[in-house]
Amino acid sequence: MARILITSAIPYINGIKHLGNLVGSQLPADLYARYQRGRGNEVMFLCATDEHGTPAELAAAKAGKPVAEYCAEMWAVQAEIAKGFRLSFDHFGRSSSPQNHKLTQHLAGKLYEAGLIREVDDQQMYSKADGRFLPDRYVEGTCPNCGFNSARGDQCDNCTKQLDPVDLINPRSTISGSTDLEMRPTKHLFLCQSKLKDQLEAWIDSKADWPVLTTSIAKKWLNDGDGLQDRGITRDLDWGIPVKRGDEDWPGMEGKVFYVWFDAPIEYIACAAEWAEANGKTDADWERWWRTDKGADDVRYVQFMGKDNVPFHTLSFPATMIGSGEPWKMVDYIKSFNYLNYDGGQFSTSRGRGVFMDQALEILPADYWRWWLLSHAPESSDSEFTWENFQQSVNKDLADVLGNFVSRVTKFCRSKFGEVVPEGGDYGDQEFALVAELEEKLEAYEAHMEAMEIRKAAAELRAIWVAGNEYLQAAAPWAAFKEDPERAAAIVRLSLNLIRLYAVLSEPFIPDASATMLAAMNADGAGWPNSVGDALAVLEAGHEFTVPDVLFAKISDEDREGWQERFAGTRT
Ligand SMILES: [Zn+2]
Repeated sequence: MARILITSAIPYINGIKHLGNLVGSQLPADLYARYQRGRGNEVMFLCATDEHGTPAELAAAKAGKPVAEYCAEMWAVQAEIAKGFRLSFDHFGRSSSPQNHKLTQHLAGKLYEAGLIREVDDQQMYSKADGRFLPDRYVEGTCPNCGFNSARGDQCDNCTKQLDPVDLINPRSTISGSTDLEMRPTKHLFLCQSKLKDQLEAWIDSKADWPVLTTSIAKKWLNDGDGLQDRGITRDLDWGIPVKRGDEDWPGMEGKVFYVWFDAPIEYIACAAEWAEANGKTDADWERWWRTDKGADDVRYVQFMGKDNVPFHTLSFPATMIGSGEPWKMVDYIKSFNYLNYDGGQFSTSRGRGVFMDQALEILPADYWRWWLLSHAPESSDSEFTWENFQQSVNKDLADVLGNFVSRVTKFCRSKFGEVVPEGGDYGDQEFALVAELEEKLEAYEAHMEAMEIRKAAAELRAIWVAGNEYLQAAAPWAAFKEDPERAAAIVRLSLNLIRLYAVLSEPFIPDASATMLAAMNADGAGWPNSVGDALAVLEAGHEFTVPDVLFAKISDEDREGWQERFAGTRT
């Protein structure tokens, strides 16, 4: 039994994510986790919310809530939606957890001991009225370039010019509106990534099986321009993990927190510690997934993320791990994704353009979305969601092919033989040909799933469904029944077994429909098939079943048009 550690890029806390975010990390990670569990492997699947930084503070202020309270509420919202999509995390953690505080401070201490952290003197805008340093986004003023009077300290939204807070004319605090601001000296910690360049490059070069999309991005950051730069890992903020070296205070860094990019990936590890606490396990139970000196040397670690996250996962986070000098489990494979666009443009959180995760579940069950998103995953290039394509895919693949097969077989059996697997009759050439075809397709399906070729896996699964339909059409038990009822019984017996097999194979993509099919076939505890022939003999003559409700309802043109209009923009 293999042991597989899976992490999905962790979603930021402020707000509900759209379908493009979902298919860029959490959903394919779930597919892979479900598949590996289905194969009988031991899986640890982790995700969490990324909670620190200025955007969380701003979103909390906008909501009129203390930031800790805001984050706790939004975590619960995101956790509930994840459940709705059947994301099968072993734990859905929080980067603000005590475990992440402790581990982040510990790793900073180790990096300091290794001489990989330096202090840098800097100047930053300070507000006397607010009694604090202001992050760039907390300062507004008039743009020196275009005269726009609400330009932010980091950028002017009107002319898009990149700015520094000192560039602004008449700068003011967005917290209090105070204009009593001054530049004050401050100090920050930088992680000396440049010193780790050779080690990082050697590590990346050792990953010959990584996709080009992943390694080319990493190589670009390592070598372009002046090469890999040192990065600030602290901020003058209240909300975050206080800067410490392990348990000890860090002289000169009082009142500062770690920058969110530093602590967020560490949450992958801390999340396992949270899992242990939540499930009454010991430290050894989570460390066997993460420490190669404590049992993780036989773990295969796979990460899922959008392409914009690749630099952090190939350079910054590994720099923390390698630099610590401790035996942390490093990632073995990174599966990265391009972007999903929405109906001729981009998803837009600010303009409410596109379908957001909560809205998706309001209008249709999770399986409909899971199937479309995964079978159109933006793997080799960006892909696009259109309502026409969604309607067509749901109606054809799910309703006409899979749903229709299940309905025809079970209803025909009920009407002629009752709700029980019929006995009698022998299998002939048609059945042997079907089994041979399915053996081949199953092998291809498994290979695509193993390789995380998600679109190819979906296409193969669909082909497996189609093969059953074509068999049923050709074998025509309704015609056979008139001449030779025993022949019809054999066809139906095989077809009922096919429904059970489809439930097992389809579970990673459409877990709810899979559960419905298994329940209808009265066959729980179904394992992954060793051979198609054996799998099609599991339900024996006399085994009872029930006719399930319609698995997938078709999407009407009217529904499609209504949704198209509803999600065109301006979410309220
Ligand atoms: Zn401007």
